[in-house]
Amino acid sequence: MKLDFSSDRILAVVAHPDDAELLCAGALARARSAGAAIAVCVLCNGDKGQPAKPIRNLASVRRREMAAAAKVLGAQLFSGKVPDGTLADSRVNRLFLTEVFRRFRPTLVLAHAPQDYHPDHRAASGLADAASWFCASRGYRTRSAPLPAAPALWWMDTIGMAGFEPGFYVDVTPFVAIKERMLACHKSQLARAGDRDFSPLADLMSRQLEARGAQACAVAAEAFATHNAFRRGRAW
Ligand SMILES: [Zn+2]
Repeated sequence: MKLDFSSDRILAVVAHPDDAELLCAGALARARSAGAAIAVCVLCNGDKGQPAKPIRNLASVRRREMAAAAKVLGAQLFSGKVPDGTLADSRVNRLFLTEVFRRFRPTLVLAHAPQDYHPDHRAASGLADAASWFCASRGYRTRSAPLPAAPALWWMDTIGMAGFEPGFYVDVTPFVAIKERMLACHKSQLARAGDRDFSPLADLMSRQLEARGAQACAVAAEAFATHNAFRRGRAW
């Protein structure tokens, strides 16, 4: 199997501002360098997860950090406004995400795994599954026109790798530096360690890249699994 992203339009659907950096930014950067169009949709506004010294207007700070990280990647950014910890697979959120799909027109969607540890991630997973189906349904009305076909859907690894059985790996060795530069944009997240010189998130990311790489004979890899639901699977 050889991955060719050159003609893809890839949309990552994540719950929180730094999830794409940790779980799929290497694959996105690799696809971008191959010529794919990239977008990231962050469903929650990042208003919680305060460092010990609280930051005022945290959601707007997080919005600026997301924009800076998306610029490093060369990705279009779609931002949801759902407060952290309250994301649900609801009618209004399905309509919002389906409209995002119809505006960006992805051929491939990356989303949190259904068995992820975080309730917001699991809700984002259900929403991405729903939108990947309804975006191509003529009877499901949003502002933009329905897509001609449902995009393929891949589940992402979990943070810390617990409970996720990889279906395959993407070698992201040349793109680790981009992941690190993107993560560095999230200063308010990194400040949660209380010490600017120490970043547990950066450590966690590099350990996971190394561990998944070791499983796949690569220096650094990200793990995914295909969602082989009706019309969301693909033949290679
Ligand atoms: Zn998250």
